[in-house]
Amino acid sequence: MDNISVIGSGTMGNGIAHVFAQNNYNVSLIDINEKALEKGLSIISKNLDRLIAKDKINIVDKERTLANIHTFSNIEDGVKNADLVIEAATENLSLKERIFENMDNFSPENAILASNTSSISITQLASKTKRPSKVIGMHFMNPVPIMKLVEVINGFQTDKQTTEKIVSLSKKIGKIPAMANDYPGFIANRILMPMINEAIYTLYEGVGKVEEIDIVMKLGMAHPMGPLQLADFIGLDVCQAILQVLYRGFGNSKYAPCPLLVNMVEAGQLGVKSGEGFYQYEKGRKELVVSNSFS
Ligand code: NAD
Repeated sequence: MDNISVIGSGTMGNGIAHVFAQNNYNVSLIDINEKALEKGLSIISKNLDRLIAKDKINIVDKERTLANIHTFSNIEDGVKNADLVIEAATENLSLKERIFENMDNFSPENAILASNTSSISITQLASKTKRPSKVIGMHFMNPVPIMKLVEVINGFQTDKQTTEKIVSLSKKIGKIPAMANDYPGFIANRILMPMINEAIYTLYEGVGKVEEIDIVMKLGMAHPMGPLQLADFIGLDVCQAILQVLYRGFGNSKYAPCPLLVNMVEAGQLGVKSGEGFYQYEKGRKELVVSNSFS
């Protein structure tokens, strides 16, 4: 596999493009939004500068990595030479179904089609293609250049060769794959999202304040980041979308998004990406928590 196409240049897509390009793959980065493509490239460039500052790569590596990335504003051109297409667009079922139809129509017939979805059924996306045995989940973690895990999700019809190729490719780019079967939320979000939702309920019901909730989980459970800060980092809209998939998929009210989360998303308080969530962020600086939005 030499040519990797990544659809979506947002939080996840630019990280996925970065990792493949740094590992010498030829990357086509596709987004319908030209500004997202520009922003994606600028984030990759800044993240490479950080690696230079830490002496992990040099300027030649940076230039080579950036030269490996080509941008496209339409799927048709961006996937036509792909060996693997990784869809990392917005977490929305009908949008992803449309994108999978296009991935299938415009990529070479042997290409593997993967989704970075956090929770949507791989089997359902595969059903929109004429090659369901070559459709698989490749769920990277945020931030992609740093996090080692890739959750590899077998759809109902994914064949063994496809799984083996994706497991081997994940290792080649320095990641550690963990296998999951195709049920709502897979492994990662089946466990993580109920915890985040419960943390939001704990705030909503006045059991604790933002900092207390986060510090209990950081110091008491040795989590590197509290659940509310993590929710801000993931994006509150993404958290809500995943909880809705769990809620509908299992028909169990324990997964219903907390009303406070729903209100925050409606109000556009999406966390780091909008500058405000459970905490406030200085524009463009995700590591700088300015203050707690709820105090
Ligand atoms: P994001 O909102 O940051 O980026 C999504 C990008 O998709 C946007 O740039 C948008 O313009 C683009 N897009 C929308 N429709 C498109 C289309 N038809 N063609 C091409 N591009 C299109 O979202 P994100 O946080 O990067 O999430 C992307 C996927 O990754 C989702 O499925 C999400 O569930 C999953 N995911 C997110 C995280 C996280 O922490 N944010 C972690 C793991 C997986």
